[in-house]
Amino acid sequence: MTGYAHIAANLAEVKARIAKQAKDWQRAPDAVHLVAVGKTHPAEAIEAALAAGHRVFGENRVQEAAAKFPALRVRHPDLRLHLIGPLQSNKIKQAVEVCDAIETVDRDKLAQGLAAELAKSGKRLDLFIQVNTGEEEQKAGILPRDADDFIRRCRAEYQLPIVGLMCIPPAEEHPAPHFALLGEIAKRHGLAKLSMGMSGDYELAIQMGATHVRVGTAIFGVREVKA
Ligand SMILES: *Cc1c(COP(=O)(O)O)cnc(C)c1O
Repeated sequence: MTGYAHIAANLAEVKARIAKQAKDWQRAPDAVHLVAVGKTHPAEAIEAALAAGHRVFGENRVQEAAAKFPALRVRHPDLRLHLIGPLQSNKIKQAVEVCDAIETVDRDKLAQGLAAELAKSGKRLDLFIQVNTGEEEQKAGILPRDADDFIRRCRAEYQLPIVGLMCIPPAEEHPAPHFALLGEIAKRHGLAKLSMGMSGDYELAIQMGATHVRVGTAIFGVREVKA
């Protein structure tokens, strides 16, 4: 076992960088939330981040989230878990049970299923709509041209607690136009939260208005298995 001492140091470094960007760009110190993405890393790694005082985490698979987080939550009831990966309809119930926020609402069937499950469980989650800003075929997310109508339906018809938008820009493109597009769509709908920016570009994302940055590698290290 190599231990997880690097995690506290990495967290401190990322938090210092976030604080600097927030200050430089005249954002409130608490305007940017760090979602620490521990996917593929064991519960001990998450535990190290918790011991360092961090409380907000992201997982991209419901099954992995369900395997790791309920036990961690017993010891740390104030932790918050965001689902940041695609959600299949048959996993909605489990996702609502295990998570506090779902960032990947992107189609009517999922929106309807979430509405039903939230009503049934009485649980209150924060929901983000994922926008496929790069219009990539293999990527989840509502297409930009369909986003306005979908956002309206989610709020008016399905009455979902939509708090903001999320995007994952194409890996091979500069992220700035994607961050800008996400911000424009959010603004049209008066949505306050923008989940954008990962290890390689979270500082730019903060400059462009991110309220949530999802950082994995820069905190937990390189993933050895595919997420
Ligand atoms: C894995 C993942 C991240 C974190 O990526 P890093 O480059 O390791 O910081 C962010 N967002 C989503 C949706 C992810 O799946």
